[in-house]
Amino acid sequence: MGTVLEYSALPAAALRDRIHARKAALNAVILGHNYQRVEIQEVSDYLGDSLGLSQEAADTPADVIVFCGVHFMAETAKILSPDKRVLMPDLRAGCPMADFVTATALRRLKAEHPDAAVVAYVNSTAEVKAESDICCTSSNAVRVVESLPREQPIIFVPDRNLARYVEERTGRDNIIAWDGYCYVHDDMVLDELARARAAHPQAIVVVHPEARRELLDAADLVTSTSGMVDLAERHDAVIFGTERGLVDRMKQRFPLKTFVPLSGAAVCGNMKLNTLAKLAWCLDHGQHEVVLPEDVRSGAERALRRMLDLSGGWRAPTAEEEGLELAGVRPRGCGCA
Ligand code: SF4
Repeated sequence: MGTVLEYSALPAAALRDRIHARKAALNAVILGHNYQRVEIQEVSDYLGDSLGLSQEAADTPADVIVFCGVHFMAETAKILSPDKRVLMPDLRAGCPMADFVTATALRRLKAEHPDAAVVAYVNSTAEVKAESDICCTSSNAVRVVESLPREQPIIFVPDRNLARYVEERTGRDNIIAWDGYCYVHDDMVLDELARARAAHPQAIVVVHPEARRELLDAADLVTSTSGMVDLAERHDAVIFGTERGLVDRMKQRFPLKTFVPLSGAAVCGNMKLNTLAKLAWCLDHGQHEVVLPEDVRSGAERALRRMLDLSGGWRAPTAEEEGLELAGVRPRGCGCA
């Protein structure tokens, strides 16, 4: 069989068998992001957020990494694991937020602010990371910014909402925020939050920091997808202000708990481009391979390693480590990812 269309005609069970067999033959590992379709999550060897998965990629003894996520995530795996083959089932699975900023545009802004340090959210291209001083995730963005001299201006790319959140948390007034955003999180609105709360008054409301400020202000907690997974394990009722894929996975893991999405429309179409048929095709054909010019890869690795060194390596923070109290009062959260 040659085309994805032909693979799409196969039953899911046949695709799963094929995926498992090819994975073993290639000594491959499948990494699935929290926002992937449930059927992709089911065949993934590891699930998590972008950086956690890239750390898995760096540590794995596998020869081939198949990244089921979006393009910048597969790039990050390649940056940290240059000797491994990194494959994506669909090259069109990009991240619109990452695409808000290009290396050329960033170079122009840097020229206007020659004293500024550049902090790049991991949701950015390898070229943009290579132009940056340090990367951050939403769970360590506050710590990363606090590691820089307080008087030094900071160019923060590409997420304006995360930049404003960090500004508020650090009390800095010298953050120059790029005007990018994630359409999935930025589109969530207060009315949806109010409706979900009215329908599930016993549930806590947790929102990702890529959402708008008014949503963060109205939430009980602000935290990363990793923090949300931790909360789901410990709470019986949660309204999740993030992409539906995470909510679907938590509902599957805890069918007796009340887990609802804050917004039914919070679906990342880019993440959902990956399907079982494309994954089986990708393993059979060894495509699509992620390749980076070495100067870009090494420049991006420098910014990523600086962040990792600051954190003493990376792992998903627990809710306690993010500063969230889990019982009784409704705390305002802190960390993110
Ligand atoms: S959910 Fe948002 S940040 Fe994540 S891949 Fe989709 S558009 Fe990009």
